[in-house]
Amino acid sequence: MSPRQIISNIPQSYEAALKAGDLFFFPSTVIKLVDSDIEFEIRVCPALQKKPTLPSLHFDTVGLPVESDRGAPDIKGRTLDPFSPPYNPNLYVGDLKDEESQEEFVILLNKFSVVPHHFLLVTKEFKSQTSPLLPSELVQAYTLISTASRAGKHFFAFYNCGENSGASQPHKHIQFIPLNPEDAKGPPIEHLAGQVNLETPDKPFSLTKLSFANHVFRLSPRLDTYPLDELERVLSSAFMQLLDLVISTIRHDPDYPPGKPSYNVMLTLNHLYLIPRRRETHTLQATGEKLSVNALGFAGMLLVKSHEELEALKDESISKILRGVGLQSVHDLQVEGQ
Ligand code: AMP
Repeated sequence: MSPRQIISNIPQSYEAALKAGDLFFFPSTVIKLVDSDIEFEIRVCPALQKKPTLPSLHFDTVGLPVESDRGAPDIKGRTLDPFSPPYNPNLYVGDLKDEESQEEFVILLNKFSVVPHHFLLVTKEFKSQTSPLLPSELVQAYTLISTASRAGKHFFAFYNCGENSGASQPHKHIQFIPLNPEDAKGPPIEHLAGQVNLETPDKPFSLTKLSFANHVFRLSPRLDTYPLDELERVLSSAFMQLLDLVISTIRHDPDYPPGKPSYNVMLTLNHLYLIPRRRETHTLQATGEKLSVNALGFAGMLLVKSHEELEALKDESISKILRGVGLQSVHDLQVEGQ
């Protein structure tokens, strides 16, 4: 299927899956809150309290069927990877193939949607969610959002990489969330990134107003006109430069947990962001509840399950919470080449 067909099929596939009872929609209300020059969109979603807690995952069981929320265990008592075949036919939207690498992908609807039309780009073969994005994966993600944009539909993509990134499934998947038409350019963080005047384009930069380490690369506004091989070169070079900076930031933290690094990736038409992560959750002081933070939180879109949690979040301040689950910026040292 072409990216254009995928994008055009999402709404009808979503409606059909919802109607069939294979997709669950959790209604929420959006509260805006300004912190660190970002207008955060906090979704309050009480319906999520009824969603069963997902079993914890084993990110290192590469290739094995893993615990999931899809349902019944198989005969050996294991449950199955929801991102491996057979797919739920109502959540399956179509296949995609990368022209350069011949790598295959599947588009699935998110079974638990807080925002309608939230979908996933999943590797056809099992690959680990702890692995960095490959050139073909970056190209597919960018092509999907640029194709959508040409059709007047605005999405941004995100990838939660590693055990402490807020990911809940170990099979490699990039996610796509629709944006309101008035936020066509990107999620709240994009407004801050868009205001930065770059002296040297084509070089990573950092949003220094933010409380947490962040590494950003500005993409050419004409990137969607580039030939495929050139698009792949630009995206993978940007990703590698940002990943080097993530690793450098992590190396400056003497208490970083052992194991593979965790980070969040966000992709809009104008920027690629990488945010190093030290832990997945923040425990709210007032309620004792664990707030799980993934890429969406850093993009400026946090999710809470009650008004009580919202108040607790306001009391502690979003920047403090994000700093706690992220890392301290060492941008100045990095600029000096240390
Ligand atoms: P993450 O939590 O970042 O690993 O993302 C996993 C995504 O997959 C979440 O948006 C889940 O709601 C979604 N999800 C979980 N189980 C399924 C499933 N069986 N089918 C489709 N999407 C799912």
